[in-house]
Amino acid sequence: MAKKLEDIVSLCKRRGFIFPGSDVYGGFAGTWDFGPLGVSLKKKIMDEWWKFWVEDRDDIFGIDAAILMNPKTWVASGHTKTFADPLVECGACHGRFRADKIADGITESVTTEEFHALNVKCPTCGKTEWGPIRKFNMMFETHVGAVLPEDVNGDENARALAEKSIAYLRPETAQGIFTNYKNVVDTSYPDMPFGLAQQGKAFRNEISPRDFVLRDRECSQMEIEYFIHPDTWEEQFNKLLKENHYFLENVMGLKAENIHDLEVPEEDRAFYSKRTIDLMFDYPNGEEELMGLAYRTNYDLSNIARESGKSMDYRDKNTGETYIPHVIEPSIGVERLILAVLSTAYTEEEKDGKTRVLLKLPENLAPYRFCVSPLLKNKPELVEKAHEVYNLLRKKYGNVTWDDSGNIGKRYMKQDEIGTPKCVVVDFDTLEDNTVTVRDRDTTEQVRVKIEEL
Ligand SMILES: [Zn+2]
Repeated sequence: MAKKLEDIVSLCKRRGFIFPGSDVYGGFAGTWDFGPLGVSLKKKIMDEWWKFWVEDRDDIFGIDAAILMNPKTWVASGHTKTFADPLVECGACHGRFRADKIADGITESVTTEEFHALNVKCPTCGKTEWGPIRKFNMMFETHVGAVLPEDVNGDENARALAEKSIAYLRPETAQGIFTNYKNVVDTSYPDMPFGLAQQGKAFRNEISPRDFVLRDRECSQMEIEYFIHPDTWEEQFNKLLKENHYFLENVMGLKAENIHDLEVPEEDRAFYSKRTIDLMFDYPNGEEELMGLAYRTNYDLSNIARESGKSMDYRDKNTGETYIPHVIEPSIGVERLILAVLSTAYTEEEKDGKTRVLLKLPENLAPYRFCVSPLLKNKPELVEKAHEVYNLLRKKYGNVTWDDSGNIGKRYMKQDEIGTPKCVVVDFDTLEDNTVTVRDRDTTEQVRVKIEEL
């Protein structure tokens, strides 16, 4: 069973799930655009996440913060100092790379000496003439307000003015949650523990975007900050870990055997984190991080209290105890989850010497639940009856598609590739007995079903 990343990328483009960003202009590295089917899949994944974590629970609330935030946010969070990757330039071809991605066994904190000692060959030209490791900040900078080019390049006064106007496209959604913690506590005073959830875009100026949507420059995140009393962190951490596994396996349909908990060792954790588990996934191109679960102590809220001069204390209504809550953060990238769902669903089957490609998407995520078609498109009575069934199903389920192109075999092939679980075909018998043929995507079995039982 061939299951290569290129096969999935190719199917995504061929069927309108995911296109390279700005394709018509030759692309734009690290960006991807979602087509009609892709946006449907993405929306379903995000809606299921929202339903599972926010709507079906009493203790997690949603927020939606602005992408542009006061730059103090990124000073407080440490991003202006530490959100950087080790950049190394080849002296021969001047290609720039992330050092820890072109050599094995080194981390983001690799030094120039350590890297040079490895004698890594340049992935482009094969030489080993490396310059020093430089820290490259991955935040996208932008200017807010009426800033002219001469302000940025002009005299010192103008430069100071321009620096004041600098803002960043948020590199994570989490800080939009932390900065609203006080607003939520002051307005709805939730009982501890409680969580705040957010979905939205985040931006990282990746040095070398690659691996399809796994390492892109613009992505969507789904993050929760779960505020707790510090004494309960271990219990809450384990609970959230279990719930995240449940969500990935039972709502997203991923296989348990493809998800591996990686206990991040102390030396690789952020210094404030007392425990981090990366949930790794077996992608077609190898094991990669799918999501992270991090115990961040009260690092973020304490930083905000210091930078803003405002109290981040929480006062327990029952005990009167006052403290800055600690936090556990489940964080997942939507595109990483989409690729995990797609690579779980992507299947090739050999049958009668032919290869059948199908996406075994779970019913709750498939862009279309049914495809309805008349057996023959040149028989008005079949077309009319099929339209009747189509409208009925669309009213009931919403995501139903119509297809009367080509022959039945071609229609099945297309619907298999886009993951439609059931194809409904109206034929001459339908006009007699009100039954239709329902063909199953995974088994290709066909059964007769009464229309009202669909
Ligand atoms: Zn080179």
